[in-house]
Amino acid sequence: MNSGSWDTVIVGGAVIGSSVAYWLSENPDYDGTVLVVEPDPTYQRASTTLSEASIRHQFSNPINIALSQFATEFLADFHTHVEVDDEAPDLGFRDTGYLFLATESGMEAMRENHETQVACGAQVALLNPAELTARFPYLFVDDLAGGSLGLRHEGSLDAYSLMRGFQGRARHNGVEYATDRVVDLALNDAGNRVAGVELASGRMVDCGWVVNCAGPRARWIAEMVGLELPVEPRIRSVFSFDCRESLGGSLLPLTIDPCGLHVRTDPPHYLTGVPPDPDLEVDPDDFRVRHDEWEEQVWPALVHRIPAFERIGVTHTWAGHYAYNTLDQNAVVGPAGPVPNFLFANGFSGHGLQQSPGVGRAISELITYGEYQTLDLRELGYDRILRAEPFVERSVI
Ligand SMILES: Cc1cc2nc3c(=O)[nH]c(=O)nc-3n(C[C@H](O)[C@H](O)[C@H](O)COP(=O)(O)OP(=O)(O)OC[C@H]3O[C@@H](n4cnc5c(N)ncnc54)[C@H](O)[C@@H]3O)c2cc1C
Repeated sequence: MNSGSWDTVIVGGAVIGSSVAYWLSENPDYDGTVLVVEPDPTYQRASTTLSEASIRHQFSNPINIALSQFATEFLADFHTHVEVDDEAPDLGFRDTGYLFLATESGMEAMRENHETQVACGAQVALLNPAELTARFPYLFVDDLAGGSLGLRHEGSLDAYSLMRGFQGRARHNGVEYATDRVVDLALNDAGNRVAGVELASGRMVDCGWVVNCAGPRARWIAEMVGLELPVEPRIRSVFSFDCRESLGGSLLPLTIDPCGLHVRTDPPHYLTGVPPDPDLEVDPDDFRVRHDEWEEQVWPALVHRIPAFERIGVTHTWAGHYAYNTLDQNAVVGPAGPVPNFLFANGFSGHGLQQSPGVGRAISELITYGEYQTLDLRELGYDRILRAEPFVERSVI
């Protein structure tokens, strides 16, 4: 059954899919229609709503820095960008900074990253152990050689509000959302264009462009057009805890320990987690919190770095999936070479929320103009996947 025709069909309506829809619908040069297909309008299991929702400028690659800088600019005026009848969700941005800590072995990379960040205009400071103690007296610094602190524009926000902002404005602009699931993509006879999108409801939709925004399930959407995408669901357990002892002073930045632990303020609590060891693909329906991580990895590492965390209590936990790019833990953005009307916006691993404004805009430019107009994201393209050449980003969490 043919159920209509859309110029652009977006697979997945969470923060990336809705950002693409938003940017297309805001662009007066794009005169097409947009359909977003999303099976779960509650988004309960989307990476977006299970995210720790933080933004940083401290990357090692200028492209990732630029994407976050654009996010900062966009989010600063979020209300104006997404308001409908003068209403817009509140992002609740908290400018706490990120604090990367390093032992001696990590200092050279930290200094190099710092130079790149400064050259890109990021407001960051390198701190020696004495300076770390002066600013953050609760940190144990004896085994540290230094730290890198974001001074401005880094912190956390409300991920759900960001997504709802994109969605609300996109709908207002005429984008349609279908509660359905993409189950197959039909290629033309030559096998080089997606011609139709098959939905679980039985609907068959004609399309001009298809954008893969299916998060941790992106690989299976790519397989529908015969392409391999090295993206898999990987579990990340998040522990929220309460500490009666005040750390005093400013809010705890999102602190990344050399052992891989991260912890940040989430007033009145704290959020923390570590990458699992081993870090393997999981079933896309497996959202079981790995409670053993708390006892074995998280709590010992917390107490080591911040002795005031000796007496703490877990308040709640959840687990979400990274759409983990096994080649290089970075986004795959842009056309699929052999099927050029199929676009990737996938593999964001742990930093897709902050890249959503820039990537949505970039995909809308590709569709509207056939090329990037603002940020050139070709280095994040699918070609590198085919060549198995990683996009180097040293600063992944
Ligand atoms: C614990 C955790 C912490 C994180 N912390 C941060 C952070 O601090 N900062 C940051 O920037 N990023 C962070 N991330 C990463 C960030 O959340 C993701 O990169 C981002 O949300 C990806 O958005 P998305 O829209 O691509 O994917 P998702 O939010 O997963 O959305 C994908 C959507 O596709 C839909 N879908 C799937 N299959 C189909 C189909 N067949 N048909 C139609 N629709 C389909 C799904 O229902 C889903 O709604 C974190 C992630 C996790 C799990």
